[in-house]
Amino acid sequence: MKVRLVDIPPEGLQATFTDTAARPQDLGEQVESIGTPPRASVWLQRRGEAVAARGSYAAEVTLSCSRCLAPYCLGLAGEVEWAFRPQPEDQPEDLRLTGDDLEVIFYRDGELDLAQALRDEVNLALPMAPLCRGDCPGLCPVCGRALQPGQACCRQKTMDPRWAELAKLKT
Ligand SMILES: [Zn+2]
Ligand SMILES: [Zn+2]
Repeated sequence: MKVRLVDIPPEGLQATFTDTAARPQDLGEQVESIGTPPRASVWLQRRGEAVAARGSYAAEVTLSCSRCLAPYCLGLAGEVEWAFRPQPEDQPEDLRLTGDDLEVIFYRDGELDLAQALRDEVNLALPMAPLCRGDCPGLCPVCGRALQPGQACCRQKTMDPRWAELAKLKT
């Protein structure tokens, strides 16, 4: 979704779109697949060449758990607040400034790339180390299978020394 600056009337413009063209790698290298494509609804308010975008977004992606490697679904939703500015001639292309929670996104050729801004937003919202659940026990160090919370696997070989001490006390 791209919006041309000249198409934003003085009273503002509501832009609602779904980025069906997004590929998993566009959102982040942790993303295996996209369940629900990123969608957003933003209100564009123009002031000269600067455009403020405010609204909300949502998406659903499948990530791999960083501990047990199992795929799991993650729903993302949140508010967006973008400040578009024309790309200055003498600055690198992909520069993004952040300050006061307001993200400055530079646009070129009089066109705001809302889809790209949304992809970046989703990317920033993704966990660095995805977990299928907060207490995911990961893989069994002996057999390599995914452990189930509270269930032992290859218990004799992997017994925690602290538990071994406790077991001695009990007998
Ligand atoms: Zn896991
Ligand atoms: Zn095991």
